[in-house]
Amino acid sequence: MYELRGVTKRYVRGKDAVQALDGIDLTIGDGDRLVVQGPTGGGKSTLLQMLGGLDRPTSGEVVLDGIDLAILSEARLTRVRSEHIGFVFQSFNLIPTLTAQENVETALVPLGVRAAERRARAAEALESVGLGERLTHLPGEMSGGQQQRVAIARALVKRPKVLLADEPTGNLDESTRDEIMDVLERMWKEHGLTFVMVTHDSALARKASRLVTIRQGRITVEENTGA
Ligand code: ADP
Ligand code: MG
Repeated sequence: MYELRGVTKRYVRGKDAVQALDGIDLTIGDGDRLVVQGPTGGGKSTLLQMLGGLDRPTSGEVVLDGIDLAILSEARLTRVRSEHIGFVFQSFNLIPTLTAQENVETALVPLGVRAAERRARAAEALESVGLGERLTHLPGEMSGGQQQRVAIARALVKRPKVLLADEPTGNLDESTRDEIMDVLERMWKEHGLTFVMVTHDSALARKASRLVTIRQGRITVEENTGA
């Protein structure tokens, strides 16, 4: 599925340069469940951006099912992202003027799904995360936990191959955190997708098939034989 070879990412700002990723080699198989951990500034979010084709490496290859995302045209990269990759961010990233259902539907627009089917699939996805009663609510009318569930529904409604989550509970209080982790764990089991999540949640880390630690742009990978 994923094959990363010699991936580096260097950010240059004025005369300062940061080596966010410093030669990453990593293979991620279909249905693999990775938890990424490490100190702040270690390169976790940068790695997820490379996996998701949200940004390009400075050097190296990011191959997803035989396609190198690093050199793909912008148009084709956008297509790969909208078809195959679901994202969940710490800050939810919902559109404030759209209802829960409309937010979820936005993921299906670039795929050319017709309006009636979009509405039906969005409703179904929201039901699966326990928000069947909240279809017409705006983000501002929902709690943080509910907003993150909308974001999870939006990520999964297109039935992606890959789900990437970057500290999805980072902005939530403790009780909501457990609730979102339960939803993610259920999705992770039910959908059989490849799942890469940055989290400090140790319960989830124990259930990962592999644990990736990033420090100063370098990774170590631990197989979790008990998962
Ligand atoms: P983490 O998610 O592990 O906290 P990041 O991947 O966000 O780490 O950042 C890795 C390093 O790259 C940090 O030193 C950070 O300051 C730097 N960095 C991240 N994004 C940018 C950017 N857009 N411009 C400049 N530096 C950045
Ligand atoms: Mg980060």
